[in-house]
Amino acid sequence: MTHYDLAIIGGGPAGYTAAELAGKNGLKTVLFEKNALGGVCLNEGCIPTKTLLYSAKVYHTAQTADKYGVTCENPTFDLSKIIARKNKTVRKLVAGIRAKMTEAGVEVVVGEARVIEGIAGQARNDNSPVIAGLTRNPLIEIACNDQTYTAKKLILCTGSETVIPPIPGLRDTAFWTSREALENKEVPASLVIIGGGVIGIEFATFFNTLGTHVTVVEMADEILGGMDKELSALLRAELTKKGIAFHLAAKVVAATDHSVEIEKDGEKSVLATAQILLSVGRRPTLAGVKINEFMQTPDPNIYACGDVTGFSLLAHTAVREAEVAVAHILGELRITNYELREKMSYKAIPGVVYTNPEVAGVGKTEEMLQKEGIPYTVKQLPMAFSGRFVAENEQGNGVCKILEGTDGAILGVHLLGNPASELIVIAGIAIEQGMTAKQLKAVVFPHPTVGEIIKETL
Ligand SMILES: Cc1cc2nc3c(=O)[nH]c(=O)nc-3n(C[C@H](O)[C@H](O)[C@H](O)COP(=O)(O)OP(=O)(O)OC[C@H]3O[C@@H](n4cnc5c(N)ncnc54)[C@H](O)[C@@H]3O)c2cc1C
Repeated sequence: MTHYDLAIIGGGPAGYTAAELAGKNGLKTVLFEKNALGGVCLNEGCIPTKTLLYSAKVYHTAQTADKYGVTCENPTFDLSKIIARKNKTVRKLVAGIRAKMTEAGVEVVVGEARVIEGIAGQARNDNSPVIAGLTRNPLIEIACNDQTYTAKKLILCTGSETVIPPIPGLRDTAFWTSREALENKEVPASLVIIGGGVIGIEFATFFNTLGTHVTVVEMADEILGGMDKELSALLRAELTKKGIAFHLAAKVVAATDHSVEIEKDGEKSVLATAQILLSVGRRPTLAGVKINEFMQTPDPNIYACGDVTGFSLLAHTAVREAEVAVAHILGELRITNYELREKMSYKAIPGVVYTNPEVAGVGKTEEMLQKEGIPYTVKQLPMAFSGRFVAENEQGNGVCKILEGTDGAILGVHLLGNPASELIVIAGIAIEQGMTAKQLKAVVFPHPTVGEIIKETL
């Protein structure tokens, strides 16, 4: 039996961030990963999708190059090469994580880990990493590959899994989830995407750019639930112009290999399709994990970070939660001053949709503020008020929308237009630091940048 200060189950963004930080601060750390280091994010989520979307963007740029005075005759693409480049990118980044673990002195164990003593939380199924019940033993025992490991502290970073809804007929079809969609080397003639959330819409733009006839079916009355509704509708209008069809407030009631039956306003209709892609969401691998602001579960020796907490299901949230958990553990084990512990803040978690054009938001949306009864004013400008945006986006549309409280505090910032994913960081810092509109406006922004639109809007 080998003893560790810290055991971590799951090698995704939460797990590898926690492991690196703990190892670098002198904790004897073991990290268990049953599939591949990097987790969903690196292997089948954030990075693979963004790599494919970038290829699609390059193809689109080549197709529309004449708008910029550049001739690019009959551009074509090779999906198998696009997938091969995606795989190469993933391999490179996973190797980088492996090197980081070695450098931090973390022992990586490949295999499925189970907590022998168990923790609070309901096990979802037999493959679940924990057994329900509260541990009494101050040392946590973990079994993996017929060996037992003990640790003073444990961080659960086991992530989330795709939700498969009970749609009649669906399980008998060869439907794709995001995993299969990332590996497929042929462009389907048509694709029905069930679910108009971030993942569904990103795949919609990818396949639409490659020439697939894409239809999105969404149960809510707008795509991208949780993002600013006005900007989501504007993006939907842009994507409709590009040929993507949308059925909103529509429920899928049945599926076969080549058709999807939907119900809208009590009327049923059938959509024929070459392929179905299911993206109705993800759920934590463990149900009902409870954590405090230090990411501690009701058992003070056990922490949980990332998708398994079921909060935000985003890689950047997972990373920050891991930093908070390790800072607390270092304090608890008297490695650092206990006062250095930090609390997790969910005030400024950016949400980004990497479509073309991109959408990004941070802080409150108008919908949230109205629900919470918080008074606010809206400042809004078209992106065309930025010279750099005009220079780089021929006939491009976009919006910068800033929500301000009555005391001048910036409550939310929402952007449509490239590169919203990069610009949103500026707004995130301002909101996290509690800056007022006046304070942010006093910052000098480089010229010409698209980021100046934030200053201009303020
Ligand atoms: C298609 C897609 C696109 C996405 N795009 C983005 C994006 O652009 N930006 C963003 O922020 N987020 C994105 N996400 C979400 C992001 O991938 C997750 O939020 C992130 O991976 C969560 O990190 P995590 O460490 O909590 O879990 P994961 O990355 O899921 O890692 C959990 C790991 O735990 C391992 N594991 C589970 N149980 C055990 C066990 N018992 N023993 C050993 N190992 C175990 C799993 O094998 C897995 O590797 C995307 C997700 C998908 C599916």
